[in-house]
Amino acid sequence: MKTSLAHAFDYQPVRLVRGKGSYVWDDKGKRFLDFIGGLCGATVGWKDQRMEKAIVRQARKGFYIPALFSDPNQEAFARDLCRLAPGKMVRAIRATSGSEAVEFAIKCARAATGKPTIVSIDGTWHGHTYGAASLGNACSKRMAPCLPGFIKLPLPTTEKKAAEVVKAFERLCKTRKDIAAFMSEPIWTNAGCFVPPSDFYPKIEAICRKYGVLLVMDEVATCMGRTGKMFGSDWWGIKPDVMCLGKSLTGGYATLAATLVTGAVWKKAEGIPVYATFGWLAQDLAAVRENVRLILTDRLVENARRVGDMLLNELKPLEEHSHVKEVRGQGMVFGIEFKKPVVDEMMRRLRQRGVLVASASDKILFFSPPLSLSEREAKIGARIIREACSES
Ligand code: PMP
Repeated sequence: MKTSLAHAFDYQPVRLVRGKGSYVWDDKGKRFLDFIGGLCGATVGWKDQRMEKAIVRQARKGFYIPALFSDPNQEAFARDLCRLAPGKMVRAIRATSGSEAVEFAIKCARAATGKPTIVSIDGTWHGHTYGAASLGNACSKRMAPCLPGFIKLPLPTTEKKAAEVVKAFERLCKTRKDIAAFMSEPIWTNAGCFVPPSDFYPKIEAICRKYGVLLVMDEVATCMGRTGKMFGSDWWGIKPDVMCLGKSLTGGYATLAATLVTGAVWKKAEGIPVYATFGWLAQDLAAVRENVRLILTDRLVENARRVGDMLLNELKPLEEHSHVKEVRGQGMVFGIEFKKPVVDEMMRRLRQRGVLVASASDKILFFSPPLSLSEREAKIGARIIREACSES
C-alpha cells in the first residue's frame, strides 16, 4: 500500500496553493471564489494582514504559559467569550477542536446532572471523537461499541416533524428520570442547512426548564456571526446552559475551540478533567483574539446577515427548476437540495466555472462563504451557481 495521509473525503481534484480575501488559487494559477470558506470557518477572509501581524507578534515572543500558571491572555479571552454569549456563562473551557469542545459539553452535562442520557438529533455531525461521534452521526459499526447514553430524535426537516420532535422530547422527559440534556445545533448545518421553525427551540427550552434538563447548544459551526447573529441561539432567544464554539471563532487561522458553561452547571461540574497541553496555545490565541476583534470592528455579523440574505434571494429562483427541491440559508451558511443525487456533477460544473462548494450528501450542496463576502462577490457566485444548477 502506498504511503499517504489518511483522508476523510474523496479529494476534489484541485491543488490549492494560496488565498486572498474570498478567493483561492490552484497550482496552475486558476482563481476560485471560495464558497467553502473553511467549512464554516472563514470570517475576515484569507491572508488578512491584521491577522498576520497579530500572529507574527506573538510568534516573536516565542513563549507559552503552561496550564500550571494563570495566563492573562487566556483569562481575558475567557471573560470576553462569556460576555458575548447568551445566558449566564461564567466559565470557558479551553479546547483545540470542535470535537473536543463537544466532549467537554457531554462531560459537563453528565457531571452537573448526575444523569447519563443525552437527547440529540439524528443525522447531524458533532465531531469525530467517541463522545461526539456517538452524539452525532459519525459512529460507524466498525467503531463499536459507541458510547452508551444517547437517544436520537429525527431531524426536523419540516414544521410537522419539528412539532413531533418537541412532543417526543417532552414524552422522554416525562417518562424517564435519566435525561441530562438536550444537545443540538441551533441550525443543522452539516446535515444540509436545515433551519428549525421559530417556535422549536423556545419550546425545547421550556421543556428543559420544566423537567430540570440542560440545554446544550453545539455552536461549533454557527458561532461568531455565521448565521447572521453572533450565535445561532440568538435567533431563537434561548439561553443555553452549555455552549460549544469552534470554526468561525478562529477565522481558519488557528486550532482553537471552547466550551462555555453557566455558574449553575459549573458548580456541579467543576473537577471534570479539562487539562490539555495544547489548549489555547499562545499563537492560536493571538490569532483568535484578533479574529474576534475584527468580527466586531468590521461588523462581520451584520455583513453575514445582509450579504447572506442577498445571496439567498439570488439563489431562491433555482427552486423553480424541476430538479431542485429546496434552497436554504441562514446568514452565511447554505444548502441547495436536489431531488436526485447530482451533487458531484454540480460541484464539477462549479469548479469548472471557478466556484468551490462542498456537499452535505449526494443530493445537497453545502457552502459557507467567508463572513466578509462582498455584495459583488455574492452576486458573481450566485450567477455562476444559478447557471451551473439550472441545467439538470
Ligand atoms: N460540531 C459541529 C456542529 C460541527 O460542524 C463540527 C465540525 N464539522 C464539529 C462539532 C467538530 O468540530 P472539529 O472538526 O473542529 O472537531
